[in-house]
Amino acid sequence: MPSLPLLNGSCLCGAIQYQVNAVPFDADLCHCRQCQKSTGSVVGAWMDFKREQVNWLNQQPKEYASSEHVRRGFCQHCGTQISFRDLRYPDYLTLSISSLDDPSSISPNYHIYTNSQLKWLTIVDEYPKYKAGRS
Ligand SMILES: [Zn+2]
Ligand SMILES: [Zn+2]
Repeated sequence: MPSLPLLNGSCLCGAIQYQVNAVPFDADLCHCRQCQKSTGSVVGAWMDFKREQVNWLNQQPKEYASSEHVRRGFCQHCGTQISFRDLRYPDYLTLSISSLDDPSSISPNYHIYTNSQLKWLTIVDEYPKYKAGRS
C-alpha cells in the first residue's frame, strides 16, 4: 500500500501550520482583484480540499469577510493569507499553494479572472484560461 501523500505548510512566521493527508481535488491561479489586493501578489495560487482533510497543527487562521460569502483566513501575527472558503460550500476549504513547504509539488489546472490579469504579466503555460470564474 502506498502511503498517503502528506502536504505540509505554514504562514510566514510559523504561528499557523497545517498538514493535509490528501492531494487537492483542484487547483487554480486566480487573477481577480480581490486576490491581488489580499495576497499582495499579482495572482493568487489556490488548492482545494475537503474541509476534514486539513489539520491545523497550531493556531488557526483569523478570518476576514471579503464579501458576503467569502472568508479569507490570515495569520494575525505576520499577515500571511493562507486560506479561503465560501460559506455556500461548507464542506470545502481552499489553501494557498504558496504556503506549502514545497509549493512546486502542486501545480494549478487553470487560470481564472484573466480579465483583471496584469497587462505586463505574460503567461506562457498551457493551462486553460477563463476571463471570469469557472462554473
Ligand atoms: Zn504567521
Ligand atoms: Zn481571486
